[in-house]
Amino acid sequence: MEPRDIDGDLTEILIEEGQIRDRLAELSRRIEADYAGKDLLLVGVLKGAVMVMADLARELKHPIAMDWMAVSSYGSGTASSGVVRILKDLDTDLTGRHVLIVEDIIDSGLTLSWLLANLNSRGPASVEICALLRKPEAARVEIDVKYVGFEIPNQFVVGYGLDYAEKYRNLRSVGVLASHVYAPVEPVSA
Ligand code: 5GP
Ligand code: MG
Ligand code: MG
Repeated sequence: MEPRDIDGDLTEILIEEGQIRDRLAELSRRIEADYAGKDLLLVGVLKGAVMVMADLARELKHPIAMDWMAVSSYGSGTASSGVVRILKDLDTDLTGRHVLIVEDIIDSGLTLSWLLANLNSRGPASVEICALLRKPEAARVEIDVKYVGFEIPNQFVVGYGLDYAEKYRNLRSVGVLASHVYAPVEPVSA
């Protein structure tokens, strides 16, 4: 099968590469000011946060540390249930550390609220959240997110780390996936 052009699978680009870069630069200036003189550990949530982590970390002038967690959220189909299993834990002891969780997107907020409680139980000095995207209409729990890149409508988006069936993470912008991708049109037989 010929590889398709990724842009043909999107109905709309919501956020362009340059907008992401500019916004991450703004957030980085705030983070640098907020953590001035403090040791900062960025915790990325695999796999979606890989791109945000890479760009945010390189934008920061702090000599930060990075670690990664992989979690899976049990749920029926696409809905998050809030029951979370750790697939890969941190290598770092969080005792006394200033932790900034780096996330791709906050949808229901259930995964992140579980993660927040989990990391807070490990004796850190502080835990805050930086998420590139947030869907305010989808929120099922209140989470205090200190750094948000963009608020987006309640649509399924891909790109810049976000996947559909493990694809589209490599798209440089964030876009809305066309419905023909996940609900292919059946060929009409004669
Ligand atoms: P939550 O527990 O907040 O409902 O779910 C968070 C996780 O669901 C995100 O980290 C992300 O992996 C996935 N997710 C939520 N909304 C979207 C979306 O619009 N597009 C993609 N690709 N993943 C999403
Ligand atoms: Mg995520
Ligand atoms: Mg995913």
